[in-house]
Amino acid sequence: MITSIHFRDKNLFSIWDKVQNGQRLSLEDGLTMFASNDLISIGKMANAVQQMKSGDAVYYVVNQKIEPTNICVLSCKFCDFAVKQGTPLAYEMTIEEILSKLNSDVHEVHITGGLHPDWPWEYYVGMVRDIKKAFPQIDVKAFTAVEIDFFHKKFKMPIDEVLRQLYAAGLRTMPGGGAEVFSERVRKLLFNQKIGAKTWFEVHKTAHKMGIPSNATLLYGHIETYEERVTHMTKLRETQDETNGFLSFIPLAFQPGDTGIKPKNDFTSAIEDLKTIAISRLMLDNFPHIKAYWVMLTEEVASVALNFGADDMDGTVGGEKIAHDAGATSPMNMAKEKLIKIINDAGKIPVERDVYYNAINVNTENVIGKIPYLNSVPFYENIEQRQFKILPIVPRRMGQLSAKDQIDAGLFSLMDYFAQEQKLELMNYCIATRDQVKSVMLFSKEGWQGLSGKNIGIIDDTATSVRLLQVLLEKKYGVKANFVRMHASVNDFSQFDAVLLIGDEALKANKSGLIGFDLVFDLAKEWYDWQKIPFVFAVWAHKRTLSTERKEALQQIIHHSLEKGENQLESIGTLHGRMITLSPVETSEYLQGFNYRLGEREKEAMTIFKKLIEEVVVIS
Ligand code: SF4
Repeated sequence: MITSIHFRDKNLFSIWDKVQNGQRLSLEDGLTMFASNDLISIGKMANAVQQMKSGDAVYYVVNQKIEPTNICVLSCKFCDFAVKQGTPLAYEMTIEEILSKLNSDVHEVHITGGLHPDWPWEYYVGMVRDIKKAFPQIDVKAFTAVEIDFFHKKFKMPIDEVLRQLYAAGLRTMPGGGAEVFSERVRKLLFNQKIGAKTWFEVHKTAHKMGIPSNATLLYGHIETYEERVTHMTKLRETQDETNGFLSFIPLAFQPGDTGIKPKNDFTSAIEDLKTIAISRLMLDNFPHIKAYWVMLTEEVASVALNFGADDMDGTVGGEKIAHDAGATSPMNMAKEKLIKIINDAGKIPVERDVYYNAINVNTENVIGKIPYLNSVPFYENIEQRQFKILPIVPRRMGQLSAKDQIDAGLFSLMDYFAQEQKLELMNYCIATRDQVKSVMLFSKEGWQGLSGKNIGIIDDTATSVRLLQVLLEKKYGVKANFVRMHASVNDFSQFDAVLLIGDEALKANKSGLIGFDLVFDLAKEWYDWQKIPFVFAVWAHKRTLSTERKEALQQIIHHSLEKGENQLESIGTLHGRMITLSPVETSEYLQGFNYRLGEREKEAMTIFKKLIEEVVVIS
């Protein structure tokens, strides 16, 4: 992490030391930061962490928020939304009314609402099912832990059965609300009928186990103390260590309204908001994303937050309001354009995402793709960006964006390069192995011959490793198996006979072992023992249409960065390695196992592999 910070508050020194060394921050560290007035330094530390996790990417989604009813059986003190049945402001939406709010531009629908006393279970399942049926492209993010627990009690079904039926209907992720702040003191004072931390975590852990990822929120700026705020974060961090099912953390500033908890206009200050976002980024080291929810923060504060640790702006959720203010006829597009402008103005890359944070579109130019795995560190650690912006992205998605001309250059998965040879020009750099790789691993219950007709779970991240596996199975061992795509958040592999993992996940599992899978095969070693030639996993390439000036700039950037990186192989990936449980020695040995330059042997290996894949059946 190469950032120098001129601290005004010397109490932050030790925190920065920890951050730079990848050490976890303590409750006391969190409190030190909340007590500090050195907001800029806290923001710079958070920004450094964000850069490491997301590069220049800032995500948004074209989404629609639906609140099917404001009628609620509870009466939480801070809630300015819920009313009782039969009162003048009460409303109930039919499924037809919900469908009428959606259209083919929307990618995500976010559904939360009051706990209705009379609606039957079929209404909720039917709502999700009908949305998916009418708009297959929409991912449904629905129902907080409070609502799931309400369904569990009201309809007398176990929590996992509630989630199973909703998943079968089309629910894919869960929003993070409902817990507000994990403090019994606050719960008793403000929402004593509502679930506490124990039930909230039980619901989310159950969802994560079933492959349903979720978000987590914090409602701050009411009666909670800083200690309660930081404790909220450390509790979430512990659960994330266990399940790895949280996608993003969303600090939500309390809106006083008519709640009576605070004077009506006593909103949190921009400084308080930015500090909370930055501290969240620093405390929640295992959360992939921190969201600046612009609808509540205001556009101005949210855009500054993009340099204070936030890497997600939520979406076009408030589109209609923005658009009406501007007199636009296409609310959704208007909101999208506005978000893209805010992100571009912050010097970042606007990345339209799906509900799982897969990049769908990139709305800017001069983008270099970065494979977010340890083995690519020597290319990127010393990169001098110049006019380019860096987008960390898994190989398969990089290939998809390149196919749409939305990436200028990058370290492409070999299969994506083969598929786009017409538009991509090869550079002289690659990721190749001479023997074992340690990060493209098949964990199996059976030997190679025993995998005939069996199900192999494959992660959606890369095409090359999957095709290498297919070539090994069919051409080396004469065996055909079934490939079943798994979502990246799946961590229960028991249904498979073997699982192919790649990148950092494979490195971690290679070290710790994968319960139930006693046999472990390194695909690069299998290839080398068979062909006696290196295997090329990825190659650097850029668009053929780039201007000569930009091509030359890229050549220089990669050349200088790699030269430096190769001279630092003993130390360069230490921080990244530590985050995936590797010691500095293990990291250094791993990085030294690669060849980063594309020579004649590597080109020959590419030709042999290409011929072999033409001989095997194409996987869908
Ligand atoms: S459960 Fe939700 S909707 Fe109902 S009163 Fe509490 S905060 Fe409001």
